[in-house]
Amino acid sequence: MKNTDYSKMYEKIFRIIGDLTPLKADCGKLCGCACCKGDENTGMRLFPFEETTLPVKELPNGVRLVVCSGSCHRNDRPLACRIFPFFPTVDEKGRVFVEADFRGARLCPLITHSDEIIFDKRFFKALKKAGKVLVKDDLCRQFLMEATEEIDTYSAFLK
Ligand code: SF4
Ligand code: SF4
Repeated sequence: MKNTDYSKMYEKIFRIIGDLTPLKADCGKLCGCACCKGDENTGMRLFPFEETTLPVKELPNGVRLVVCSGSCHRNDRPLACRIFPFFPTVDEKGRVFVEADFRGARLCPLITHSDEIIFDKRFFKALKKAGKVLVKDDLCRQFLMEATEEIDTYSAFLK
Protein backbone atom coordinates (compact mmCIF):
# COMPACT_ATOMS: atom_id res chain seq x y z
CA MET A 1 0.00 0.00 0.00
CA LYS A 2 1.67 3.23 -1.15
CA ASN A 3 1.10 6.48 0.75
CA THR A 4 -1.09 4.80 3.29
CA ASP A 5 -3.73 6.96 4.91
CA TYR A 6 -3.17 5.46 8.35
CA SER A 7 -6.14 7.11 9.91
CA LYS A 8 -8.46 5.58 7.28
CA MET A 9 -6.67 2.26 7.51
CA TYR A 10 -7.21 1.99 11.28
CA GLU A 11 -10.82 3.14 10.93
CA LYS A 12 -11.32 0.29 8.49
CA ILE A 13 -9.65 -2.20 10.81
CA PHE A 14 -11.70 -1.05 13.79
CA ARG A 15 -14.83 -1.45 11.65
CA ILE A 16 -13.79 -4.97 10.70
CA ILE A 17 -13.25 -5.97 14.32
CA GLY A 18 -16.26 -4.03 15.54
CA ASP A 19 -17.46 -5.24 18.93
CA LEU A 20 -16.09 -8.73 18.47
CA THR A 21 -13.94 -10.15 21.25
CA PRO A 22 -12.33 -13.59 21.62
CA LEU A 23 -15.11 -14.74 23.95
CA LYS A 24 -18.78 -13.96 23.67
CA ALA A 25 -18.70 -13.35 27.43
CA ASP A 26 -16.63 -10.73 29.30
CA CYS A 27 -13.29 -12.40 29.89
CA GLY A 28 -12.29 -9.67 32.35
CA LYS A 29 -14.39 -11.54 34.92
CA LEU A 30 -11.93 -14.45 34.69
CA CYS A 31 -8.88 -12.50 35.66
CA GLY A 32 -9.97 -9.18 37.16
CA CYS A 33 -9.07 -7.43 33.88
CA ALA A 34 -5.39 -8.34 34.26
CA CYS A 35 -4.46 -6.85 30.90
CA CYS A 36 -5.75 -3.42 31.95
CA LYS A 37 -3.50 -3.19 34.97
CA GLY A 38 -0.65 -1.22 33.42
CA ASP A 39 1.50 1.37 35.16
CA GLU A 40 3.73 4.17 33.91
CA ASN A 41 6.29 1.65 32.66
CA THR A 42 4.04 -0.87 30.97
CA GLY A 43 1.33 -0.50 28.43
CA MET A 44 -0.10 -1.64 25.17
CA ARG A 45 2.03 -1.03 22.12
CA LEU A 46 0.61 1.16 19.39
CA PHE A 47 0.77 -0.06 15.80
CA PRO A 48 2.70 2.09 13.28
CA PHE A 49 1.19 5.58 13.00
CA GLU A 50 -1.79 4.55 15.11
CA GLU A 51 -3.22 7.60 16.84
CA THR A 52 -4.88 7.58 20.23
CA THR A 53 -6.50 10.00 22.63
CA LEU A 54 -5.02 8.08 25.58
CA PRO A 55 -1.67 9.01 27.19
CA VAL A 56 1.33 7.67 25.29
CA LYS A 57 4.87 7.02 26.42
CA GLU A 58 7.61 6.89 23.79
CA LEU A 59 10.55 4.65 24.61
CA PRO A 60 14.11 5.44 23.45
CA ASN A 61 13.79 2.78 20.72
CA GLY A 62 10.76 4.58 19.25
CA VAL A 63 8.20 2.12 20.62
CA ARG A 64 5.02 3.95 21.60
CA LEU A 65 3.01 2.57 24.50
CA VAL A 66 -0.47 3.55 25.61
CA VAL A 67 -0.09 4.12 29.32
CA CYS A 68 -3.61 4.12 30.65
CA SER A 69 -4.97 4.31 34.15
CA GLY A 70 -6.64 0.91 33.90
CA SER A 71 -9.92 2.03 32.42
CA CYS A 72 -10.94 3.66 29.20
CA HIS A 73 -13.92 4.21 26.99
CA ARG A 74 -14.43 1.17 24.83
CA ASN A 75 -14.22 3.21 21.64
CA ASP A 76 -10.84 4.65 22.67
CA ARG A 77 -9.08 1.32 22.98
CA PRO A 78 -6.01 0.99 20.77
CA LEU A 79 -5.83 -1.89 18.35
CA ALA A 80 -3.56 -3.95 20.62
CA CYS A 81 -6.26 -3.92 23.32
CA ARG A 82 -9.02 -4.82 20.88
CA ILE A 83 -7.23 -7.95 19.72
CA PHE A 84 -5.40 -9.10 22.89
CA PRO A 85 -4.52 -11.92 23.58
CA PHE A 86 -4.41 -12.82 19.89
CA PHE A 87 -2.32 -11.38 17.09
CA PRO A 88 -2.22 -11.46 13.28
CA THR A 89 1.10 -13.18 12.65
CA VAL A 90 2.68 -13.31 9.19
CA ASP A 91 5.03 -15.66 7.40
CA GLU A 92 7.82 -14.71 4.99
CA LYS A 93 5.36 -14.74 2.08
CA GLY A 94 3.11 -12.25 3.83
CA ARG A 95 0.41 -14.81 4.61
CA VAL A 96 -1.59 -13.88 7.68
CA PHE A 97 -2.48 -16.23 10.53
CA VAL A 98 -4.10 -15.65 13.88
CA GLU A 99 -2.21 -16.93 16.89
CA ALA A 100 -2.28 -16.58 20.65
CA ASP A 101 0.07 -13.78 21.63
CA PHE A 102 2.38 -15.65 23.95
CA ARG A 103 3.98 -12.39 25.04
CA GLY A 104 0.93 -12.11 27.30
CA ALA A 105 0.91 -15.70 28.53
CA ARG A 106 1.83 -14.87 32.12
CA LEU A 107 -1.09 -12.49 32.29
CA CYS A 108 -3.93 -13.96 30.35
CA PRO A 109 -5.81 -17.17 31.20
CA LEU A 110 -7.26 -17.29 27.68
CA ILE A 111 -3.82 -18.29 26.44
CA THR A 112 -2.97 -20.80 29.13
CA HIS A 113 -6.46 -22.39 29.06
CA SER A 114 -7.10 -22.07 25.35
CA ASP A 115 -7.80 -25.80 24.94
CA GLU A 116 -10.72 -25.61 27.35
CA ILE A 117 -12.31 -22.45 26.00
CA ILE A 118 -14.81 -22.03 23.20
CA PHE A 119 -13.84 -18.87 21.35
CA ASP A 120 -15.96 -16.78 19.05
CA LYS A 121 -14.90 -17.81 15.54
CA ARG A 122 -16.13 -14.51 14.15
CA PHE A 123 -13.41 -12.73 16.12
CA PHE A 124 -10.67 -14.83 14.52
CA LYS A 125 -12.12 -14.29 11.05
CA ALA A 126 -12.23 -10.55 11.62
CA LEU A 127 -8.70 -10.46 13.02
CA LYS A 128 -7.36 -12.32 10.01
CA LYS A 129 -9.13 -9.87 7.73
CA ALA A 130 -7.66 -6.97 9.73
CA GLY A 131 -4.22 -8.57 9.41
CA LYS A 132 -4.64 -8.71 5.63
CA VAL A 133 -5.28 -4.97 5.61
CA LEU A 134 -2.21 -4.30 7.78
CA VAL A 135 0.10 -6.46 5.72
CA LYS A 136 -0.51 -4.33 2.62
CA ASP A 137 1.42 -1.50 4.26
CA ASP A 138 5.20 -1.97 4.36
CA LEU A 139 5.68 -0.52 7.85
CA CYS A 140 2.83 -2.52 9.32
CA ARG A 141 4.03 -5.66 7.61
CA GLN A 142 7.46 -5.13 9.16
CA PHE A 143 5.79 -4.53 12.54
CA LEU A 144 3.81 -7.77 12.20
CA MET A 145 6.93 -9.69 11.20
CA GLU A 146 8.88 -8.43 14.23
CA ALA A 147 5.97 -9.22 16.53
CA THR A 148 5.65 -12.69 14.98
CA GLU A 149 9.29 -13.35 15.78
CA GLU A 150 8.80 -12.24 19.39
CA ILE A 151 5.66 -14.35 19.75
CA ASP A 152 7.45 -17.40 18.31
CA THR A 153 10.31 -16.91 20.79
CA TYR A 154 7.95 -16.68 23.77
CA SER A 155 5.91 -19.60 22.53
CA ALA A 156 9.01 -21.79 22.13
CA PHE A 157 9.89 -21.17 25.78
CA LEU A 158 6.43 -21.69 27.14
CA LYS A 159 5.04 -24.60 25.15
S1 SF4 B 1 -5.98 -10.79 30.61
FE1 SF4 B 1 -6.97 -12.09 29.07
S2 SF4 B 1 -8.77 -12.95 30.14
FE2 SF4 B 1 -8.09 -11.16 31.30
S3 SF4 B 1 -9.32 -9.43 30.47
FE3 SF4 B 1 -7.35 -9.49 29.37
S4 SF4 B 1 -7.82 -10.70 27.52
FE4 SF4 B 1 -9.46 -11.12 29.00
S1 SF4 C 1 -6.35 1.24 27.02
FE1 SF4 C 1 -8.25 0.48 27.91
S2 SF4 C 1 -8.46 -1.62 27.17
FE2 SF4 C 1 -6.32 -0.98 26.87
S3 SF4 C 1 -5.21 -1.65 28.71
FE3 SF4 C 1 -5.88 0.45 29.08
S4 SF4 C 1 -7.86 0.27 30.10
FE4 SF4 C 1 -7.41 -1.70 29.17
